[in-house]
Amino acid sequence: MRPESLPDTLPRRSVLAKTGGCVLASATITGAANAADQLDSGGVSQESFPIREGTSEETTVYVTTADADGPTAFVIGGMHGNEVAGYTAAGKVSNWAIEAGTLVTIPEANAVAIERGTRNDQDGNNLNRVFPEWSTPETKLGRAIWNVVSKYQPDVVIDLHESIGIYGGNASNGVGQAIFTGDGTNEATQVTDFVNRNYVDDPDLAFQVGGFSSPDARPQDLLVHKAARDLGADAFLAETYSGVALEQRVQWHTAIVERLLRDEVSPNGIISESEPSIESQSQPQPTKTAGDESGSDSVKPTAKITTLPTWTSVSSLDKGQTITLDASQSNAPPSGIDCYEWKIGPDGTFEKAGAKVDVTVEGANYPVTVRVRGNNGTSDTDEVTLSTGC
Ligand SMILES: [Zn+2]
Repeated sequence: MRPESLPDTLPRRSVLAKTGGCVLASATITGAANAADQLDSGGVSQESFPIREGTSEETTVYVTTADADGPTAFVIGGMHGNEVAGYTAAGKVSNWAIEAGTLVTIPEANAVAIERGTRNDQDGNNLNRVFPEWSTPETKLGRAIWNVVSKYQPDVVIDLHESIGIYGGNASNGVGQAIFTGDGTNEATQVTDFVNRNYVDDPDLAFQVGGFSSPDARPQDLLVHKAARDLGADAFLAETYSGVALEQRVQWHTAIVERLLRDEVSPNGIISESEPSIESQSQPQPTKTAGDESGSDSVKPTAKITTLPTWTSVSSLDKGQTITLDASQSNAPPSGIDCYEWKIGPDGTFEKAGAKVDVTVEGANYPVTVRVRGNNGTSDTDEVTLSTGC
C-alpha cells in the first residue's frame, strides 16, 4: 500500500533543472509528461521491481538512472510501519528526477508493519535491528533489502524515521529532529543548518547532528551501520519528531534528503542546482530581482539573506521589533565579495552596511534588499519582506 499513487512517468526533468527554488515542489508534479517526452528531454529513466514477491512482505524497489554518470544514492522509508512521514517522504523521493548517477528507493520497506500501522511486524521483528555488520541479515526481508543494497553499492544511504521524542544529546528521551551519521558529520551539519534556517521556526525543533553508536553499543544492527561499515557508504538516519503535523514532518524529510543529495553538499550528490531551494510554509520566499536568473554567469556572486538567529521568522514580527539580517551566506565569485549594500524599507536607498544589519520593523510589510558586489564588478541582490503578520 503506497501513501499515494505512483505516476506512470517521472516529472519532467526540465522542470526540476530550471526552476531554481522549486525542486521539492516539482518533484511532486505527477503525470505531466509522457514517457517518450520524458526520456527525450530529461535523460533519466526509471525501472521498478518487487522484492519478497508473492509474500505479504512484497514491496517495490524504484531505480532512477540519469544519462550522466555519477554516484549512487539509496533512500529507504517504512522500516518502521508507524513512522508515516518517513515512508510518505520516501515515496515522494522515488519520483524525483536527478541530474547524474542513480537513485535507488525502497519507500515502504516493511509493508506488513505499514499495513498494521505498527513499528514491528506481526512477529515482533524490528526490521532496523536485523542488519549485523559483516554477516548476513537475520530475516528474509532483511536479506532481500540487503541484496538490493549490495547490488547497487550505494555511495550514500539515507534511512527515514520518526521518534516520539526530541533528541537531547542522548537517546533517552527520543531521537527526533536529528540526523545520525558515521563519517558524514560535515554533510549532516550543512544540511541541518540549511533546514533549520529555511524550514524550522521553533528553536526547540531545530535539527541536530548525532553520531552512530559504536559497533558494540546499543542499538545495534541498524541498516545504516551496516551500510557504513560493510560498504563504506556515507550513511544517514534522519529522525523527525512525530508530535508536529504530518505535512511538516514530510517536508522536513524531503528537504533533508534533497540537501544530502546535492552535489554542492556532498561529492556524492546527484542533484545539481545553482540556487538553494527554499519552500517554507512560514517564511516568505526571498524575491529575486531581475538579472538573477539561474544559469547566468557563474562568476557573479549570489546574494542571500538569512536571519540571525537562523530560526527567526520574518513573517511574524512585532512592529518596532529589531531583527538581524545576515548576508554572509551569499556566494562569492572567485575573487571574493567587495561590499554589501542594504536598502531598508520602501523608501530606502542602497548604503554600505557590512554583511549583517539590524533592522527595526516599521511597517506591516517592510522590504529589505541586499546588493552584494563581487571584486570583478558583478553584483546580485536578494530581498526579504519583514511582516508583522496581520
Ligand atoms: Zn524508526
